[in-house]
Amino acid sequence: MSYPYEAPVSQELFDRAAAVTPGGVNSPVRAFRAVGGTPRFMVSGTGPYLTDADGREYVDLVCSWGPMILGHARPEVVAAVQDAVTRGTSFGTPSEGEVALAEEMVARVEPLDQVRLVSSGTEATMSAIRLARGFTGRAKVVKFAGCYHGHVDALLAAAGSGLATFGLPDTPGVTGAQTGDTIVLPYNDLDAVRAAFAANPGQIACVITEASPGNMGVVPPRDGFNAGLRDLCAADGALYVSDEVMTGFRVSKAGWYGLDGVRPDLMTFGKVMGGGFPAAAFGGRADVMAQLAPVGPVYQAGTLSGNPVATAAGLAQLRLLDDAAYRTVDAVSKEIQGLLTAALSKEGVAHRLQTAGNMFSVFFTDEEVRDFEGAKRQEAYRFTPFFHSMLAQGVYVPPSAFESWFVSTAHDERAVERIAAALPAAARAAAEAHA
Ligand SMILES: *Cc1c(COP(=O)(O)O)cnc(C)c1O
Repeated sequence: MSYPYEAPVSQELFDRAAAVTPGGVNSPVRAFRAVGGTPRFMVSGTGPYLTDADGREYVDLVCSWGPMILGHARPEVVAAVQDAVTRGTSFGTPSEGEVALAEEMVARVEPLDQVRLVSSGTEATMSAIRLARGFTGRAKVVKFAGCYHGHVDALLAAAGSGLATFGLPDTPGVTGAQTGDTIVLPYNDLDAVRAAFAANPGQIACVITEASPGNMGVVPPRDGFNAGLRDLCAADGALYVSDEVMTGFRVSKAGWYGLDGVRPDLMTFGKVMGGGFPAAAFGGRADVMAQLAPVGPVYQAGTLSGNPVATAAGLAQLRLLDDAAYRTVDAVSKEIQGLLTAALSKEGVAHRLQTAGNMFSVFFTDEEVRDFEGAKRQEAYRFTPFFHSMLAQGVYVPPSAFESWFVSTAHDERAVERIAAALPAAARAAAEAHA
């Protein structure tokens, strides 16, 4: 397709990047492969806006894939970072900031007796799986198709958007031995989980699931699904691991747990809790966490874990995320959802808007999407012209039909008006698309 406008400075940077970095990016979805065109190199962000290297401003509906829930460069967070950074950037010793961040998390999320801080969501899920295996003395792990838990070898089987976007059935470099103990089941299918436990009694260390999946587009758990997982795990002595890297501190003060109240044995966090810095965590039951080094035998470590600048940013962000902040994010999300579905309906575009708290995404299909197979049945070709129309009009939506959209407390009326103004033409482009 032809693109509505060019981005020469971004293109020049992308060419330079491609010479020194595979595909010109440090995380695949940023390369725009699913939609084509030039990835925008951003130079600054303020509130709900990003400005690219060509000097164009966009309303940001990606928010760094979730972390920027207060918008970009929120002054209180910037001040906390500036204050921390002048006192030194890494000590390799314990420091008070990591205690304060852990206290804040434990106070918000009732099932967290203890947390261990790490630097990425990938590290969090990798460590949680290791801990679950160490605690139970079992090898097998159940995961769901379309759920992404970072690029942990054992969990890179049917892992959602990154792979959906690129159509890779699997990834070279992960061996059969590494995924040999991973059982992949269809999402939202408790019978399949029941059957897996029946076929592998006493062998499953844990079931890991996105608390509410956002990495195949937004596909919330059906009523009773998470509770069913918890009960099946408990009956077999397996651990129920809820991956809240995306939902944690985004959909409520206590993340998805705050909405469904289903108590996990272990939980993982990232994104929002880092305030835009690399900070993540896993935590949960005290008796399970007590198996971790240096108290217990399960090894886990990190040079930059609990980094003082990252923890200062995360703590500042969490402290600003009170009930009023979530009400603001929920309300603006609802408003944008309404505009999106109205614009698509007006053009007669078959679609399903799916939501999980303030996370949402649109699937170009008539059917409710309950699992990864359903997500893949959408008319994804309609997304490409929709995306480029929005981009040309200064609205940055995720560059893939299999991703959640994210908003922030900074998305004010002006930002919403700009989205509203862009949607009709984008919806028309979606209507006119053909496979
Ligand atoms: C983003 C994400 C991860 C991986 O986190 P990284 O910080 O990118 O390693 C894991 N699980 C879920 C649910 C995520 O959304």
